[in-house]
Amino acid sequence: MYQCLCCRNETLPVPASDAVAYICPVCWWENDVFLNSPDEPSDENHGMTLLEAQENYIMYQVRNESFSRIDRQARQGRYMATYDQSFLLSHLAEMTDVQKSDDNSFYPAPWKHYSIFTQNQVIDIVSHCEPVLTVGTNDTL
Ligand SMILES: [Zn+2]
Repeated sequence: MYQCLCCRNETLPVPASDAVAYICPVCWWENDVFLNSPDEPSDENHGMTLLEAQENYIMYQVRNESFSRIDRQARQGRYMATYDQSFLLSHLAEMTDVQKSDDNSFYPAPWKHYSIFTQNQVIDIVSHCEPVLTVGTNDTL
């Protein structure tokens, strides 16, 4: 496996230079083999640059629902929940390399915790902008 240029997880089946239009299953960056620099708008990613995409999310994880600690008090929403405060957000600086300012805010903007509740798993995303969800089949992913 080869590293995704956006999230650095080893999700590409071939080197990035050969992964034409491959969508990373972790960060959803569509590999754009035509980019000449990370600050060039990507047609494959609706004009977003690779640098912008790298700054859009800080954490993505999948938890087994049976063993998940769910903060029901701060939860807004049932199957797609958002949190302005959560256990995950309060421990973000300890768990990641995120930069926290003196006023307790995070760079580049306030991070928000999104959770997607499925039948057996909870998918957590910590991002400063709303994640974009698409529905596809195994053939399109
Ligand atoms: Zn990725």
